[in-house]
Amino acid sequence: MPPIEEPAPLPAAELAAIRADFPLLGETVNGHPLVYLDSAATAQKPRQALDAERDYLLHRNAAVHRGAHTLAAEATEEFEQARADVARFVGADPGEIVWTSNATEGINLIAYGLSNASFAVGGERLRLGPGDEIVTTESEHHANLIPWQQLARRTGAALRVIPVDDRGALRLELLDSIVTERTRLLAFAHVSNVLGTIAPVEALVARARQVGALVVLDACQSVPQLPVDLHALGVDAAVFSGHKLYGPTGIGVLYGRRELLEALPPFLTGGSMITTVTLEDAEFLPPPQRFEAGTQRVSQAIGLGAAIRYVEGIGMDRIAAHDRALGRRLADGLAAIDGVRLLGAGERVGLAGFDLAGVHAHDVGQFLDDRGIAVRVGHHCAQPLHHRLGLVASTRASVSVYSTEEEVDAFLAGVVDAARFFGAGR
Ligand code: PMP
Repeated sequence: MPPIEEPAPLPAAELAAIRADFPLLGETVNGHPLVYLDSAATAQKPRQALDAERDYLLHRNAAVHRGAHTLAAEATEEFEQARADVARFVGADPGEIVWTSNATEGINLIAYGLSNASFAVGGERLRLGPGDEIVTTESEHHANLIPWQQLARRTGAALRVIPVDDRGALRLELLDSIVTERTRLLAFAHVSNVLGTIAPVEALVARARQVGALVVLDACQSVPQLPVDLHALGVDAAVFSGHKLYGPTGIGVLYGRRELLEALPPFLTGGSMITTVTLEDAEFLPPPQRFEAGTQRVSQAIGLGAAIRYVEGIGMDRIAAHDRALGRRLADGLAAIDGVRLLGAGERVGLAGFDLAGVHAHDVGQFLDDRGIAVRVGHHCAQPLHHRLGLVASTRASVSVYSTEEEVDAFLAGVVDAARFFGAGR
């Protein structure tokens, strides 16, 4: 991983200018200026990304990779430029970037590709069956658990899980006994969406390499918060969603190492992913087009490309330092409040989850919402992790490039008042 700068908030004047780029931050909620601390669910969008999408739709909208007319050529060029922007941003080659609708679809694309390989002539290398094992962890988002459960069910492979300890940290001492010669695939989140903690990627990838297993990285929460270099991390595949990276909804990214994508059968089939078709059969295009059946999400890809250029303009390393400084402020502040149990231990990004003793997360969320403070409450699509931590729900505050220390402090003051109001821990 590239070196991460020391946590430090962005200078006030620069932060004010950044905030001015995000129109939605000017909204009031319940009579208060909005304090948006739910960027891990979905980030707000800078004018630059919104304008790029609108400008494309107003002036160049056309079907890509088809048609000989000028607009189609311009649309194709812009669409492919966005792919190149994504590739540069995450340390990959453009041919290794597949557009999806979100991260969830990216994981399913791999899972269905692998089960298609399991039943295809010539799919031997990727074939899964009884005796094979797929490994994930106890702290995953459902999007990185259920597709593997289903893949195991379809192929007869077994699903194994790396457990977490009482703080939610992966129990690495069990790694060698769980990831073994039987393991064909290891899937885990780079950053937990509940805890905000960073997974020990190097150790996990090294073990997978030892046993020849594929590594699938859920980078949904890391790509918006850390500089990520996928080639340097050495994973075989990775997914993330545009909407968490200041881009539009409806666009996601699947990175696949070239050799993996070349060997993987398609998930969806139809138009735009073929070379020749007869009534009996079809030949598929090489990756990435092989995985992009049907009309593509062109304006969304272009919006994401613009969002990435916006992030690069500030510097991902500086955004990471800003987010981590605010993450530390969030975590330290929460840990000091009576009745608060801070979830997760160790290095974290700008995200903190907590439980307020005896108070349902929905009550905490509503209390904060009355003050215009937006946080996420519930199980955050991670029921097994909550179960392991002895919780049904938790509250999560997450920051991003436009978040301020004042917002974190307003949130912390709100939690202090909520604890008092609900008599937390008493
Ligand atoms: N994995 C993680 C860690 C996430 O935080 C999320 C989004 N909450 C997802 C997967 C799924 O992302 P999407 O809903 O955009 O497909």
